[in-house]
Amino acid sequence: SQAIAAAERAREAYDPVHISGHEPERSSQWDYSLQARLEEALTNDDISIKLQPQIDLASGQIVGAEALVRWTDSSRGEIPAAQFIAQCESVGRLDDLTQRVMAKSFEAAILCERNGFSPSISINVSSIQLVDRRIVAMIHRELERSSVDPAKITIEITETARIDDLAMARRVCEEIRALGMAVSIDDFGVGSANLEVLSELPFSELKLDRIFVQKMASCPKARAIIVSMVHLAKDMSLICVAEGVEDKATYASLKEIGCDRAQGYLMAKPMPVRAFLELVRKQRSSADVDRFYG
Ligand code: C2E
Ligand code: MG
Ligand code: MG
Ligand code: MG
Repeated sequence: SQAIAAAERAREAYDPVHISGHEPERSSQWDYSLQARLEEALTNDDISIKLQPQIDLASGQIVGAEALVRWTDSSRGEIPAAQFIAQCESVGRLDDLTQRVMAKSFEAAILCERNGFSPSISINVSSIQLVDRRIVAMIHRELERSSVDPAKITIEITETARIDDLAMARRVCEEIRALGMAVSIDDFGVGSANLEVLSELPFSELKLDRIFVQKMASCPKARAIIVSMVHLAKDMSLICVAEGVEDKATYASLKEIGCDRAQGYLMAKPMPVRAFLELVRKQRSSADVDRFYG
């Protein structure tokens, strides 16, 4: 009956008018029992993260990783992140999810540090969480609980097209920067109002969306857009990261254009924290870094 109550709450919280145009990616596969199991997983901290390496293009070295949330349902198997994130949002549990991802990401950062390596760790936060200062309070609380160096943490702001209170979003990002963390604009180039958001918020990093990255080797227009976005990032003193790098030609042109970092299946898929550490160890002990990355 608790599960049914949770499902009822989920249905009530789901308000298609409020999110019209940005309807979460709920698949028809969602039902009350899956919903209940998701809520249970959140309550029991039964979700995990994977780390996807970020490579410094100048040196070929792993310098960071993006933390990506994962949830495996007992009967349906691994559920795509975008799907259950949208679900968490519609039942008002996105902050809970973020808190758990953050705690796990801080733990991963500390584990790396104990192994003599201090990568930057990126954590995704949806722009709809910038509507008030709760997220700042949460980050502050997690920092107090952990010995992590905030300078090693980057907050990636996703879904920036959904920001409707720019002033509040700016204030929240400024406070995150004041805590010592970096702030990144994720999936840059897709969605609306990106340039306005870019000019208004205090970002330290720009992440090129994989839509353009994946087309740049075959499509001159996509390449031109990437070139100018890399220049734009430089002119604004932002670290420029390309996501979705899947082939060597793309890796080479990003390097040539002067993009700072790359992330993608060519180098590595998202992996468990232990495997990430192992990969770093392997790379450190290898003289020839290009052996890994084209
Ligand atoms: P994102 O932040 O843009 O993350 C990159 C996504 O692209 C990840 O998908 C990653 O697995 C995938 N990817 C990485 N390299 C490649 C590649 O070379 N080719 C292709 N085709 N895909 C690649 P994932 O893990 O399914 O996450 C999807 C989205 O869900 C993320 O997109 C992000 O917006 C969101 N997300 C993931 N974890 C969290 C989280 O903890 N909190 C929030 N709010 N959102 C999250
Ligand atoms: Mg991201
Ligand atoms: Mg991204
Ligand atoms: Mg993306």
